[in-house]
Amino acid sequence: MKFYRKKGKKSDRAKIIARLEALTREILIKERGLHCEIHPSKNCTQVGVMHILSKRSHPRLRFYTPNLVLAGWFCSHFWTHHNSDDPRAKFCQQRLEEIYGKDYKEKLYVANRFSKQHTTGYLKILEIWCKQRLMGMG
Ligand SMILES: [Zn+2]
Repeated sequence: MKFYRKKGKKSDRAKIIARLEALTREILIKERGLHCEIHPSKNCTQVGVMHILSKRSHPRLRFYTPNLVLAGWFCSHFWTHHNSDDPRAKFCQQRLEEIYGKDYKEKLYVANRFSKQHTTGYLKILEIWCKQRLMGMG
């Protein structure tokens, strides 16, 4: 007898993560506006949330807004992920230093030391906190 996993059925945890991704994106847009932070004077397309320290290497900073940047996919995001030696990726790092200070990565490493493991319980509380933060932004 075979057992099939129901397709398209997300776990509760996956649902919370999806909601948190939407919430943090909304917070960022309210805070910074929907435009590429790397090229403020250009009209970059496909602007999305980019993690400075990656989700894989630093999962605890996944929803930590100082670790998040609104950036265009083709101008910045793609290069940062696929080839950090590419001039476009290098420019991205330069811009982040300009905006957030030369020690922006060090500050994130410190924040990572003090951040909590993302248990489902913690994510639930984080979701409530994000909603409150968003409401407070009006
Ligand atoms: Zn851009």
